[in-house]
Amino acid sequence: MFFSEMWERFSFYGMRGMLVFFMIHQLDMTKVVANLQYGATQAFVYAFTFVGGMLADKILGYRRSLFWGGLLMIVGSIILAIDPKEFFFLGIGFNIVGTGFFKPNISTIVGRLYKEGDFRTDAGFSLFYAGVNLGALLGGYLCIAIGQRDLFKDYIGAQYAWNVAFGLAAIVMVVSLLTFTNTQKSLATIGISPLLHIEKSKRRLYEWLTYAGSLALIPVIMIMVSKTKYTDIFMYIIGPCSLLYIFYEMKNYSAAENKKLTAAILFMLLSIIFWAFFEQSGGSLSIFADNNLQHSLFGMNLSPNGINNSANSVFVIIFATPLGLLWIWLNRRKIEPNTIVKFGLGFLFLAGGFYIFYLTRLFANAQGVTSLNVFTLGWLVITFGELCLSPIGMSIMTKLSPYKLQAMIMGMWFLASAYGQYFAGLLGANIAEASENATNSQALEVYTKGYGQLALYSLVAGALVIAGSPFIKKLMGGVK
Ligand code: GLN
Repeated sequence: MFFSEMWERFSFYGMRGMLVFFMIHQLDMTKVVANLQYGATQAFVYAFTFVGGMLADKILGYRRSLFWGGLLMIVGSIILAIDPKEFFFLGIGFNIVGTGFFKPNISTIVGRLYKEGDFRTDAGFSLFYAGVNLGALLGGYLCIAIGQRDLFKDYIGAQYAWNVAFGLAAIVMVVSLLTFTNTQKSLATIGISPLLHIEKSKRRLYEWLTYAGSLALIPVIMIMVSKTKYTDIFMYIIGPCSLLYIFYEMKNYSAAENKKLTAAILFMLLSIIFWAFFEQSGGSLSIFADNNLQHSLFGMNLSPNGINNSANSVFVIIFATPLGLLWIWLNRRKIEPNTIVKFGLGFLFLAGGFYIFYLTRLFANAQGVTSLNVFTLGWLVITFGELCLSPIGMSIMTKLSPYKLQAMIMGMWFLASAYGQYFAGLLGANIAEASENATNSQALEVYTKGYGQLALYSLVAGALVIAGSPFIKKLMGGVK
């Protein structure tokens, strides 16, 4: 699962890293339009994980969903590799639906690898998360570097650079699926069809309808993504609808199970705040990095934007496994913090990181350019926050949801991060607006002040979560 997800994230982040640049330089969009378009794509991608998860729970099973999602992603990337300019939104549409089928289901399978109550689950998800970030780092770096012709310039003609870059995303996705098909043998019955009890012909019919329905959705998504005003409407609708659907499902479950589901929803709501701050990375922090940071990290000449994009992944790769082992070590000594406290810690680390971003103002020169070293330290601290919240959040979703709703709940977990991305854009736009027409030094003041405020909010959130932990714990009925 580690490697299958690693290659999928290579493809996903590789493509994500190319979007804005490609839209501005190849599709002649303005920066504002490209940013909005980028936000819309991200929102749709993560929103579809809810749909993909639900269809897996009800009809396809995790394996088939994952495989179908992977196929759609391959087709999407091949379309983009053939003619990225002409078929841009078609390719993106395939990738959105494909990721929706792939991402929640591979994560749910990881949860299923562990028996109920197995204390190694969190550590397993932490290791899996290292795979996510290894893929993100490689893909995020290689694809755009090839597209922009920073890499392999002598081997790839200028007119083919983007085709090769998108083609690479397709190739690694094939590797991801091959890895998965080889692993399936070891999965026993995990992720097989939930409809084995019904007649085979009927089951096949439902499956084919799901495949056909998801294909029919692609043109609709294409149109919705290409007009960003639809994204707002979509975001207003999908979240409340998913909540209503969960409430509707709750009638099939016992009071104890419903309490656990309520706890899962609380964790999702908290994660929205976390991602809204964290995802400043792609927005306001990248503008800050561009204008207000030195090009030197401990004496090495490096691009501050490159650091802003990759430091987090590097830190996850380095620290995910040791932290996972630390959870196991603490568990053996019966002092492992429970998930709620880990979430609280996540917010406290986030606060610490943003406070460090705030402090960069103390190291600035007269031109408003400040230390990349201090900035990178901020990312190190935030990464610990992410590791306390993101893999742990996936893990707890599998523990808190009834067997038959696991992928849908996992999809909702990612849907929450779609909202996080969405609010991140709004927050970032606020900071950017406040610094319009400012000098570089004034902009530094405005941005760091904004980060100082985010630090304060996350500190308060962390304190509230830890203080409220006895209440949430009651809902969780023994799940840790
Ligand atoms: N970076 C993680 C991943 O891609 C988290 C995604 C999310 O929940 N927003 O898997």
